Order: sequence, then structure tokens, then C-alpha cells
Amino acid sequence: MPYDPDNIFAKMLRGEIPCNKLYEDDDTLVFLDIMPRSDGHTLIITKEQAESLFEASPGGLAKLMAVVQTLAPKIRDAVGADGVLIAQFNGAAAGQTVFHLHVHIIPRKEGEPLRPEGAQRADQTVLAATAEKIRAKLAGD
Ligand code: 5GP
Repeated sequence: MPYDPDNIFAKMLRGEIPCNKLYEDDDTLVFLDIMPRSDGHTLIITKEQAESLFEASPGGLAKLMAVVQTLAPKIRDAVGADGVLIAQFNGAAAGQTVFHLHVHIIPRKEGEPLRPEGAQRADQTVLAATAEKIRAKLAGD
């Protein structure tokens, strides 16, 4: 399947659709998932037009994963979680629903189950407050 430049994340990169942005650099955009499986569920996307991990350049992938490595523990601490689930799906059969390479950072709290996948769109007020808390943590470090 060729890369679709009208996928939802491509639209975010072009600023056509809003997001709760946490971080951006030359190679990546980081924002909260609209249907969070836990508080602070974050998506890190590459600015490169890659449908999945397999189409990414090695350099682009390395930059993406470096951002994941740096931000994940800060996001975990910002929301008071104990651990972090990092997930990345390639292909519809694997659970990918948006065909632009992205990595999920899902903070986990001891004994707290994940919310069902795609079950509920979060309240924007709640998402905005979570984003503010995480941005403050990123700015403070
Ligand atoms: P995938 O299953 O492809 O790995 O994950 C795609 C993710 O994108 C899902 O967790 C879904 O909740 C999230 N998502 C889908 N549409 C939007 C949107 O419009 N805004 C944001 N912030 N996240 C979205």
C-alpha cells in the first residue's frame, strides 16, 4: 500500500488538524493520543513519510527512537506512573490503524489495567491538562 499523504498524522504535521502537542523537533512530532489507554498515552511520529517501520530510513528511525528513549521516562514521571509500555504496530493485521509510522508511549501504574483500545475519545479538557503537566515536566528537566 503506498503512503497516503492524507492520513490523519500527515494532516497534523501540516497543521491542518490540531493536537495536544508535547514536543517537536526537525524529525519528530509528539502529542497525546486522543483515545488514551492510560493517562499520558503519547504518540511519537516521524516527519518522514513512512507508512510503517519498514519504510523508514535507518537515520530517521534512529532519531525517532532516541526521542522515545528520552521522553518516555519523563512522561512516566509527569503522570506518576510506575512503568512504560512502548508499542509500535506494522500493518492492519498487527493492529495498525493509522498508516504513518508512530510509536506509542503508554505509562503504566501498578495494578491499573489498560483502557480498551479505541474505546473512548478523551475529554479535551482532560487531555489539555495532561499535556500541560507533561510539557511542564519536559521544560523543567
Ligand atoms: P495504531 O493502532 O495505528 O498503532 O494507533 C493509532 C493511534 O492513533 C490510536 O491509538 C488512536 O487512538 C490514535 N488516533 C487516531 N486518530 C487520532 C487523532 O485524530 N488524534 C490523535 N491525537 N490520536 C489519534
